[in-house]
Amino acid sequence: MPRRAAQTKISPVAIESDHSSRLRYFEDRRDQIVQTIRQLVEVESPSDNKQAVDQLGSLLAGRFEKLGGHAKFHRAPDFGDHLQVDFPGNRDVKPVMLLGHLDTVYPVGALTTMPCRVANARLWGPGAFDMKSGIAFMLHAIEALRAWHEDTLPRPVTVLLVSDEEVGSDTSRRITESVARNCAAVLVLEPAHGPKGAVKTARKGVGEYILKVTGKAAHSGLDFEEGESAIIELARQIIEISKLTDLKRGLTLNVGKVQGGTRSNVIPAEATAVLDVRIARMKDAAGIDRRLRSLKPFNRKCKLQVTGGINRPPMERTPVVAALYQKAEEIAKQLGWKLEEAAVGGGSDGNFTAGLGIPTLDGLGGVGEGAHATHESILISELPRRAALLAALIEAV
Ligand SMILES: [Zn+2]
Repeated sequence: MPRRAAQTKISPVAIESDHSSRLRYFEDRRDQIVQTIRQLVEVESPSDNKQAVDQLGSLLAGRFEKLGGHAKFHRAPDFGDHLQVDFPGNRDVKPVMLLGHLDTVYPVGALTTMPCRVANARLWGPGAFDMKSGIAFMLHAIEALRAWHEDTLPRPVTVLLVSDEEVGSDTSRRITESVARNCAAVLVLEPAHGPKGAVKTARKGVGEYILKVTGKAAHSGLDFEEGESAIIELARQIIEISKLTDLKRGLTLNVGKVQGGTRSNVIPAEATAVLDVRIARMKDAAGIDRRLRSLKPFNRKCKLQVTGGINRPPMERTPVVAALYQKAEEIAKQLGWKLEEAAVGGGSDGNFTAGLGIPTLDGLGGVGEGAHATHESILISELPRRAALLAALIEAV
C-alpha cells in the first residue's frame, strides 16, 4: 500500500520537486523565450509613433489569442491603441492583472545602431529590458499554465499593455485604474531592480511643474534700468526650490530644464523652469504643491506663474503589498533562490493600481541593466526562473 499513501499525502519533497519540474519546463524553453523577446524588440515601438506601436499591439493580440485570450483594443488617437486581453479561468474568482507597456523610448531606426543580439550571456536591444522581456514572460507563463491545467488557466487573468507609459500614461491611466478595480492583484512586469533582480515594493510618486517668470524687456545698453530680468528672478527661485528637497522624507525636486531670454543685449522678459518632483508618501503631495504655488517673487516687478502637479501617486509598501511580496518570496525560495525587494525612485503604472489599494507587485520582469540607454540588455540565464515565478504567482494569488 505504500503507493496509495504517497498519493493521498503530498510531502514537502513532492511540492519541491513539482516546483523544480516546473522550473525545468521553462529551462527547456529558454531559447523560445529568447526568440519571443527578440521578435518583440525587432518591432520598434516608440511612444510617439502610433503606427509602430499599433503594429506591436496587433502582433501581441494575435499571440495572446492563440493562447485562448480575448483581445480588445482601447483606441487612442494620438498614441498606439492600448491592448487588453481577458483569459477565462477554471475558478470563479477575480482575475489577476498582468500590467505592462508596449512603448519604448527609442525612435524607429535605433535597431541599426543597437541591433538585437546575443552576446556575453545577454540579450541586447532597445526595449529588451524595459519591458519587452516582461511581455514575453506573460506569454510564456500563460502558455505553461495552460499546458499544466488541460488547456485552461487555473484562474482568470487580464493582461493590459498600454502604449504611453514612457510619456506619463495620460491616455491610459483611466483604463489601467478601471481594469485594476476588478482584479484581485496586479503583477507589473516592469524590469527587476539591480543585478539580483529584486522586485519593487515601493516607488516614489512623480510630479512635474512649470515655473514661468515674466519680467520686463529693455535694451541692455540704452535702457538697462528700465528692464526687469526674468532670468535673475528665475535663478533666485531655483535656489529656493532646491531648498525644498528633503532626502530623509524621500522628497526631491530637480530643476531639469531652464529656458529664457532672447539675445544677449536684451534684458529678458521671460524665463521658465521645468521641475521634476518625487514623493515617497502621498501625504507629502499637498504640502509640496502648496509650497510651490505660494512662491513669492524676490523682484516685485516680476510675476510668477506655477502650473502642473503630482501625476503619479507613490506606490507605498502597504500591508497588502508586503503580503504579495511574501508570497513571491516564498515561491522563489521553493524555486531555489532568494527574491529581494527594493524601493525605487522611478514611477510606473503600478503606482496607479497601488494607489487604489489593490495589492501590487512591481519589477517582476527581466533582470538586466541599461534601461533607456545604449547598453540596454537582459541576463539570459535569469529568464526561466522569472517566468516560473510569474506562472506560480498567477496561481497563488
Ligand atoms: Zn517601463
